[in-house]
Amino acid sequence: MSDKKEKIVAIKGMNDILPADAPLWELFENTAESVLKSYGYQKIVTPIVEETGLFARAIGAVTDIVEKEMYSFTDSMNGDLLTLRPEGTAGVVRAVVEHNLAYDGPKRLWYKGPMFRHERPQRGRYRQFFQFGAEAIGFSGPDIDAELIMLCRRLWDDLGLDGIRLELNSIGNADERQRHRADLIAYFEANADVLDAEAKRRLHANPLRILDTKNPAMQDLVNAAPQLLSYLGEESLAHFDGLKAILDANNVQYTVNPRLVRGLDYYNRTVFEWVTDALGAQGTVCAGGRYDPLIETFGGKPTPGIGFAMGIERLVELMKAQGEPAEPAQCDVYMVHQGEQARLRAFILAERIRDAGLDVVLHCATPAGAGSFKSQMKKADGSGAAFAVIIGEDEVSNGVVAVKSLREAEGQQESVAFDAAVDYLVDQIVGGHDHDHDHDHVHYHP
Ligand code: ATP
Ligand code: MG
Repeated sequence: MSDKKEKIVAIKGMNDILPADAPLWELFENTAESVLKSYGYQKIVTPIVEETGLFARAIGAVTDIVEKEMYSFTDSMNGDLLTLRPEGTAGVVRAVVEHNLAYDGPKRLWYKGPMFRHERPQRGRYRQFFQFGAEAIGFSGPDIDAELIMLCRRLWDDLGLDGIRLELNSIGNADERQRHRADLIAYFEANADVLDAEAKRRLHANPLRILDTKNPAMQDLVNAAPQLLSYLGEESLAHFDGLKAILDANNVQYTVNPRLVRGLDYYNRTVFEWVTDALGAQGTVCAGGRYDPLIETFGGKPTPGIGFAMGIERLVELMKAQGEPAEPAQCDVYMVHQGEQARLRAFILAERIRDAGLDVVLHCATPAGAGSFKSQMKKADGSGAAFAVIIGEDEVSNGVVAVKSLREAEGQQESVAFDAAVDYLVDQIVGGHDHDHDHDHVHYHP
C-alpha cells in the first residue's frame, strides 16, 4: 500500500486552459490570426525570457510593471539577470532592431503568447495571462493608427462580440508632455492632501500615471486636472484630427477620453483602449498606442511604431458570456470493437480513415477493461462523432464493419464491406464537398 501523496496545484494566478475551454481559445486565435492576415500582418515569435534590462529600458523604470510586477531571477548557471516577459512590445522591438527587419521598409507584425506579471490575482487579472498583439513598425501617419483600430473592430464583429467601445486620446510628443507635466505637478502639489501614498511617490517621477489611478477618492481631483490634449501643438493635433477623420469616415464610434494615458513611458500621440462593461472591474480587453521614440532607444535608426495588445482571457470570457457555448466534437468517427481480431482490424481501418483526412478516436482499454459494446457505444455517443464504426467477431469473419450514424435520433446501422468502409465514411461525412476540418469541429453560434 502506498501513502497517499499530497496534491501539487498550479501557481496562484496561473491557470490551466482545460479541454472544455480550448475550443473557444482556438476559435479566438484562429479568428484573430485570419483578421491580422487579411490586413497583411506577419507572425513573429520572440523568447519568453529576455534580459531584465530590456524591459527596464523599453517600459520605463517608474511603471507598475517594472516597479513591482516582473518575474525576475538570476540564472544560476551564469549569474545573468533574466525576466519572464511581462508584455510583447519590448521583445518584438528588440528583434526588429537586432535583425534589422525594417531595413527595406515598414513592417506589419503580430504575436501571441503568455505574459507574466506579479499582480494580485482576481477576475480578469492573472499572473500568467495570454496576449494577442500587433506592432506596425515604420509608419508615421494616422492611417496606420486607424488601420489597427479598425482591425480590432473587425475582430469583434467576426467573433460576434457586442458592446466593446473605443476610447481614444492623444498624449502628444515629449515637449508637449513636458509642459503639461510641469502644470500637472503644480496642480497635484496644490492638492497634496487628496493624493494617496502611491500618487505622492509618483508625483515627480511619473505624474501622468496618477491620472490613471483607480482610487475612488482621487477621481474628482484627476477629473479636474490640466488636460494634456490642450497642450498639443499643431503637428500632434493634425495627427489626431487625421485619425479621427478616418475613423469618422468609416463609421467607427469612439469617445475621446482626455484621461486616457498609457502606463508605459515610451508612448506618444495616439493611445486607445477597447473597453466593455460586461466583465466587471477589469473591462479593458485591448490597449494600444504609438511609440515613435522607442526604436531609437534600442540603438535603431529613428523609426516610428504603433501597436496594441489584447488580453485573451478577458475576450474568451466575453465570448462565453455573449455566445452559445462551443460544442467541441472530438472526432468524426469513433471505433468500437470487441475481441482480439476485431481490435487489429479496428487499428488498421482507423489508420486508413485518418489517411483519408477524417478524425478518428479508437476505443482503448482502461484499468476497468476493454468495455462492453454497450459502454463503448456510450463513449461513442459522448464523443460528438458523426459515426460509430463497430467491429465484432461476426464482422471480422464476414469481412464487413457496421457503421452507425450517431447524429440522427434513429441512427441507421449499415453493414459495409471492410475495404469499402473508408469511401463510405468519406462520402457520408464530407459528402463530396471540400471539407474545412478545423472549423467543422467547433460549433459556435455567436
Ligand atoms: P492595468 O492598468 O489594468 O493594469 P495595463 O496597462 O497593465 O492595465 P496593458 O499592459 O496595456 O495593461 O495590457 C494590455 C491588455 O492585456 C489589457 O488591456 C488586458 O486585456 C490584458 N492584461 C494586462 N494585464 C493582465 C493580467 N494581469 N491578467 C490578464 N490580462 C491582462
Ligand atoms: Mg497593469
